[in-house]
This record gives sequence, C-alpha cells and structure tokens, in this order.
Amino acid sequence: MINKEINIIGGGCATFSLARLSHNLSDYKFNLFVGDKNKINKDHFWGFWKVKFNEEAYDNANHVWSKWSINTDDSRHILTSFKHPYCVIRRHKWLDLCRNQLKSEKLTIFENDVLEKDNHLFIKNRMIKGDLVFDSRPPKIPNNVLLQHFEGYVVTSNKDVFDEKLVTLMDFRCDQSRGVHFIYLLPFSKRKALVESTMFSKKVENKEFYSNEISKYLKNYFNLIEYTKSDHEKGIIPMHYISNESKEAYNIGTRGGAVRPSSGYAFTFIQKQAYQIISQIKKRKKINTKIHNNIDLFLDKIFINVINDYPLLAPKIFSGLASILNGDEMAKFMSGNTSLLTTCKIIISMPKIPFIKSFFYVVYRKWSILR
Ligand SMILES: Cc1cc2nc3c(=O)[nH]c(=O)nc-3n(C[C@H](O)[C@H](O)[C@H](O)COP(=O)(O)OP(=O)(O)OC[C@H]3O[C@@H](n4cnc5c(N)ncnc54)[C@H](O)[C@@H]3O)c2cc1C
Repeated sequence: MINKEINIIGGGCATFSLARLSHNLSDYKFNLFVGDKNKINKDHFWGFWKVKFNEEAYDNANHVWSKWSINTDDSRHILTSFKHPYCVIRRHKWLDLCRNQLKSEKLTIFENDVLEKDNHLFIKNRMIKGDLVFDSRPPKIPNNVLLQHFEGYVVTSNKDVFDEKLVTLMDFRCDQSRGVHFIYLLPFSKRKALVESTMFSKKVENKEFYSNEISKYLKNYFNLIEYTKSDHEKGIIPMHYISNESKEAYNIGTRGGAVRPSSGYAFTFIQKQAYQIISQIKKRKKINTKIHNNIDLFLDKIFINVINDYPLLAPKIFSGLASILNGDEMAKFMSGNTSLLTTCKIIISMPKIPFIKSFFYVVYRKWSILR
C-alpha cells in the first residue's frame, strides 16, 4: 500500500537515477520537481568505466572502448581493460531510460522551479514537505577554487583519421601556459570523434581558446584541417568537495558531493549514491548520502593543492599514474573502488617533494580549522 511520499528536486542525472529505482519501495509515492528549464537542458555525453553500479548504463552505452591512452610530449601509455571498459552514454538517452522505468501511478512530475526561502523549499508558494526530500539543484560554485572547464564538439572528417579502438583520455601536447590543459578525444568511428579541450585552472577561458587548441591539435597530430563540427558541449565543474548541509532535504548529485573533486567524474558516483539511498530506506536506516571515502577525499585535497601550485607537473603526474597502474586498476581507481595496494602504488609514483609539502599544508589547514 502506498502511504508515504518522497520528493526529489531537480530534473537531471541524480533525480532520475534515483527515481528509476522507485520500484524497490512499494509503499512510497514519488514527486519529482524537475524545474522549468528542464526541457531545454542540452544533450552531452557521460563517460564512465563499467563497474557494478552502472551496468544498465553500460548495457545501453552509445560507445564502449577497452583501451585508452595518456600522452605527454615524451611519453605515451596505453591502458587496457576488458572487465572495466570506458563507456559513454548520451544524457538524454540515460534520462529517457530512467523515465521509462517510472510507474505513472506512483509518480507526479512538477515542471516549476523550486525556490528556497529561510531554509524552506517552495513550489508556487506551497512548501515542499513529505516523508523524505532529496535536492539536486545545481549548487553555487565557491569563489577562487580550482575548476575543471572544457569545451569541444564532434568533428566529422571526409577521410579516415581516428583509431576507433583507442580513447585519448588525456593528451597534454597542447598549451600549458594558462594552467593544466589536455585534449580528450573519443573516436566514434575512423572519421568521427568528440574532441574537447579541458583545463584545470581558476579562470574560464573564452570560446576561441578551446576551439583554437582543438584545431591546432587536429592539425598537428592527425593532419586534419577540413572537418565539420556538431554537438557543441561545454561545462564547468568545481574541483572542490561540495558538502552542503540542508535542514529540509538530503542533497544528492553534484549538490550532494557526488563529483569526485580530483577528476570531475560523477556519473558512476551518482548511481552508487542512488543505490545507497534506496538500501538505507528499505532497511529503515538513517539516510547518509556521502559517497566518497575520507581517504580518497584527503588524497584528492593533496592532489588538487599540488596541481594548483605546480600545474606544469600535471603531465608527469598523470603519465606516472598510467605507467604504474594497469587498466583494471585505473578504472577502479577512477570509480572510487581502489585497493590499499593500488593506493600505495599511486602514492609511490607521485613526485615526492610537492606532495610531501602539500600533505603538510592540508594537515595544517585541517588542524587550524579544528583548533
Ligand atoms: C557538460 C558536462 C559534461 C559532463 N561529463 C561528465 C562525464 O563524462 N562523466 C562524469 O562522470 N561526469 C560528467 N559530468 C559531471 C556530472 O556527471 C554531471 O554534472 C551530472 O549531470 C550531475 O548530475 P546532477 O543531477 O547533480 O545535476 P544536473 O544533471 O545538472 O541536474 C540538475 C537539475 O536541476 C534542475 N534545476 C535547476 N534549478 C532548479 C530549481 N530551482 N528547481 C528545480 N530544478 C532545478 C536543472 O534544470 C537540472 O535538470 C559532466 C558535467 C557537465 C556539465
């Protein structure tokens, strides 16, 4: 019998990934407050490594690759994993898949923006209550933090240029003068690829910068000058742990700290968070939406601090990582499922002095806050 109510705010990945598991909670009705801009949200790709939490996305992925590379001026590492391949799924495809699993008799969708006043959440002057409230509205990005910002598009050429079996996860052979910078290239066929110029820095660049960097890269490394562009995509993701506490709701998705600060990946963590919440409700446990463990968050802080102080070390750090991990280990590391042995291997591979300095800085900051 349905006698309880769950309200979920937002109309993106976290809301629909959680709502699609609603069939596990037979006594709950679901209300989704998807916002008034939801229909115009642009399509883009979500990349992830296949692990147990994202199997349905893997089964429906637009593309899957077993190999990916990390390139610098003086190294090229190719990693392979058949167990945990790299996949992408389109945003609209995943959201439609989730929507199609919702049972209409258990669900109401509201298409108005939710407003917050005095810590209470409202829709059209009506307060949102219910047995449980989950909130995935985009959080405010704090000032002066390191950002991952990127722009790119799908490139179509009239000659065969791309190796369709190999993803370029990071190619640092591009301008490093404005911060950490790499090219991300997903080959959909020999003639078609998504190419993005990605930076880790505090300042978002203008559109021309990313576009020029992509043109230079395609010319220098693929001898590609003539091509058409489509499916423009861009984003800004804070490289900072978001830990908003709300009185009225449990925060989920980006707002609920699902983005891994050091990488900007969130899709798998959002799936993990959704399963965790459903399991807690079923077992009548206290809801805890925290998804990254404290060791990962601590190491991420050290890493981000090093990247901020020594951006020119980034190619060495990432190529070092790729040289000591195999594909399975890297996929699990990027998905938040690292063994102690892998963690030790990663720590050993890092440039010692900057990381030791950063370790003491992070510990000192934590200690000053606690004092
Ligand atoms: C372009 C881009 C590419 C990315 N690529 C990857 C990737 O490849 N792999 C990966 O792991 N992660 C990626 N991420 C990071 C992360 O996975 C996504 O940001 C993901 O969409 C986060 O899900 P979310 O539900 O928290 O936020 P969103 O999916 O952004 O959803 C937030 C929702 O809240 C709605 N909303 C806003 N205001 C209100 C309001 N007042 N009331 C009600 N609703 C409101 C919005 O319309 C939107 O529907 C990417 C992010 C971006 C921006």
